Amino acid sequence: MEGPGAVMSGGCLCGAVRFTAAPQNRNVGACHCSMCRRWSAGPFLVLDCGDTLQVENPACLGTYRSSEWAERCFCATCGTPLFYRLVGKGMYFVSAEAFDDRAGFVFASQIFIDEKPAYYDFANATHNMTGAEVFAAFMPSEAAEAKG
Ligand SMILES: [Zn+2]
Ligand SMILES: [Zn+2]
Repeated sequence: MEGPGAVMSGGCLCGAVRFTAAPQNRNVGACHCSMCRRWSAGPFLVLDCGDTLQVENPACLGTYRSSEWAERCFCATCGTPLFYRLVGKGMYFVSAEAFDDRAGFVFASQIFIDEKPAYYDFANATHNMTGAEVFAAFMPSEAAEAKG
């Protein structure tokens, strides 16, 4: 496993929440699952930040436990969706658009592609996975009906 990359900063729309994180790479992944789309008003685009996310002012965060295994965090003041985390696993997936500097970002993957509504399609060439493939690859111990 690679070590963490450079530390990057970001925050919400109103500035109440600021954070730093050191993603291993600049690969952006989109999640098309119904929960991400409803929560973020579109596919949720994230960087895998492992356990490197540090929120400077966690008292300003709102938290919503959206499933058995995932929690979604947002600014309690302006409502910006910021990241989701896998409960008890120290894994944070942070909104690509919450970072201050998106230089070098590469749109690399799309997950829950089978839940993507028909009315939009990204033209980028990406690695796509269905929900079942995601669970098989990353969470083999979780029930296939669970999603975050
Ligand atoms: Zn805010
Ligand atoms: Zn999702």
